[in-house]
Amino acid sequence: MHRKFDVLIVGAGPAGASTAICLGNSGLKVAVIEKAVFPREKICGDGLTLDVVNQLGIISEELAASFRNFSAKLPCYRAEIFSPDCKRISVAVRPQEEQKPMYTCRRSDFDNFLFQQLKQFENVSVFENCHPQKLIVNEDKVVLETGEDTFEGSIIVGADGVNSFVARELGVKHITREQQCVALRTYYKGLKPLREGSLIEMYLPGEILPGYLWIFHLGDGTSNVGIGMPATVINCKGINLKTCFEGLLMAEPLKSRLEGAERIEAVKGLIIPFGGLRRDISGYRFLLTGDAAALVDPITGEGVGNAIRSGRVAAGHIINSFKVNDFSGAFNKAYDNEIYRRMMPEFKFHLKLRSLLNHPSLLNYIVGSAADHPGIERSLQHLIWNLRVNKFGPRVMLVFRLMYMFTLQRLFVSVFNRKRKRA
Ligand SMILES: Cc1cc2nc3c(=O)[nH]c(=O)nc-3n(C[C@H](O)[C@H](O)[C@H](O)COP(=O)(O)OP(=O)(O)OC[C@H]3O[C@@H](n4cnc5c(N)ncnc54)[C@H](O)[C@@H]3O)c2cc1C
Repeated sequence: MHRKFDVLIVGAGPAGASTAICLGNSGLKVAVIEKAVFPREKICGDGLTLDVVNQLGIISEELAASFRNFSAKLPCYRAEIFSPDCKRISVAVRPQEEQKPMYTCRRSDFDNFLFQQLKQFENVSVFENCHPQKLIVNEDKVVLETGEDTFEGSIIVGADGVNSFVARELGVKHITREQQCVALRTYYKGLKPLREGSLIEMYLPGEILPGYLWIFHLGDGTSNVGIGMPATVINCKGINLKTCFEGLLMAEPLKSRLEGAERIEAVKGLIIPFGGLRRDISGYRFLLTGDAAALVDPITGEGVGNAIRSGRVAAGHIINSFKVNDFSGAFNKAYDNEIYRRMMPEFKFHLKLRSLLNHPSLLNYIVGSAADHPGIERSLQHLIWNLRVNKFGPRVMLVFRLMYMFTLQRLFVSVFNRKRKRA
């Protein structure tokens, strides 16, 4: 069947669904083409940060209210962080009572929540179990062929995740190894949070830095246990991530932590596409959003917030394109510029910060000092909070610079000592 629309969106994850929601009631005829059937599984850590909550509120008060009533999520007020030498600090993820918490939620539930919102818009048609096979961009239209149907539109949005079909078909350069993080996750039952309201545990074993291991506790009584590590580090250290993951789960402190708990799902993995390197994420009659555009935080691996943000920006740009009837590559560059203007400073800053995580002794020092001195713990909480809400005020920058100088000084001392030994 030949179907005519104004906008084609491939993928109905957070990026695709939010693009479509923002185009709801725009007067444009929108098709969302999704290969899975919702609710569908999504390999993830299942953490929904404050950024996600804020993005939903920016889209509309109705969406924020629906999310407030959405019962599958669990509010998280604290995180437990374990240093390489197994010292632990408990950090508030919202230092003040009036601030919103973050949440944990199975991605199959959260993505289905967003997906169901599409049903309220008469101008949005959803096609599940639909497998794109061929994409042709003509002078005056985009044509997407699936097994049974042919979709036609003026512009196409690639919201189809890290292995984007749209990006591949349109010859967009694949992300480099430097931008890839390999991540694995599994689920356990029978694990309880270490303290009430503290649903996040982050472990920083020296051998996987700047990667980390996590336990996120979910509302259904299960816990998401996973590991993420930059592909370059895996390569450089010659690590088999699955073996390494299983080894770390059998060693302290995880061994005692998981005692009595039962693994209920197989280990599954996926590439996380880190942001931080600029590349073309649009062209003639197309835009890429979310993971297809590589917009994940290079420290924490959070991508849902930016997927929704990019969907919002894409929808705004598309409405402008129709107003001036311009779908050219040159016009679409405004989309790239807007995405990178909003996100690149944070990516660059977090990439710098990530280099600090390469030093186990520094992390031992910071976590150890914070564990022993409540004042340092409070400062650290403020630093983490400010990073989370992207407020790089002068105090945060000062702490960051001091930490950076401290690392450089330690590096200098270790190089100096090595040279002295050699001499
Ligand atoms: C192990 C792991 C842990 C993570 N943990 C977190 C976390 O805790 N918090 C966080 O914020 N982020 C996390 N992320 C990152 C986050 O999952 C992604 O950044 C986010 O899902 C991006 O959303 P998206 O809509 O761009 O892509 P996706 O969520 O991948 O959605 C893409 C959609 O497109 C569909 N699709 C794919 N190909 C096609 C095709 N050819 N045709 C039609 N449809 C197609 C898929 O079925 C899917 O529904 C994690 C990632 C991994 C791998």
